[in-house]
Amino acid sequence: ESSVAAVSAWLRACSQEFDRRVEELNELDRILGDGDHGTNMQRGFAAAGALDFGAQATAADALRQVGMALVKVVGGASGPLFGTFLLRTGAAWPTPLTVAGIHGALDVGLHGVMTRGKAERGDKTIVDALAPVVDSLAASAAAGLPLAEALTAAALAGEAGRDATAPMLARRGRAALKADRSIGVIDPGAVSMSIIVSTGAHHLG
Ligand code: ADP
Ligand code: MG
Ligand code: MG
Repeated sequence: ESSVAAVSAWLRACSQEFDRRVEELNELDRILGDGDHGTNMQRGFAAAGALDFGAQATAADALRQVGMALVKVVGGASGPLFGTFLLRTGAAWPTPLTVAGIHGALDVGLHGVMTRGKAERGDKTIVDALAPVVDSLAASAAAGLPLAEALTAAALAGEAGRDATAPMLARRGRAALKADRSIGVIDPGAVSMSIIVSTGAHHLG
């Protein structure tokens, strides 16, 4: 469902999930960075969940407003990156929601993140959780899969992408400074991206 109500429910569910997993994310970032990633995401999505989008708002407007809130509230590396992701994805958000449309929107979001952060696939960042989601949606669109099935497959692809960051050597952000310690540890930003995608699949399918 593409309505602003569905998007609001998605964002509130993200906020609950970041509340629940704040310590797990901080712990991963304690090993790879400065230990604040869970707190950053929790703060950003608490602000997003509290936004009132207004009676005339579309789902695209809502996503753009959340993107701006994340840039403003979160700071650090992840605020501008997740903010850019939602701003760009929101600007391309399809109504009605189709598999091809959501693929197009997330592809725009992915390229926004890659342009902003200069990370490529394999650098152990949020790109590694998001890029497989975009690939999965492209394959689902080509195969003519129904929306709910395509979103379930996309969420699984995001989780696989998240887990695949463990053996990677960090090449971007603070984690690159501790790259030798990064092997064997899942990237916290990739976990957060996977949370956003899985929660979205649940609420939009
Ligand atoms: P900070 O590093 O400023 O404390 P966070 O801890 O909130 O910010 O976010 C760290 C996460 O940001 C990392 O786990 C990684 O996924 C992501 N990240 C950092 N730099 C980049 C980048 N250049 N491109 C994509 N993602 C990045
Ligand atoms: Mg950090
Ligand atoms: Mg920090």
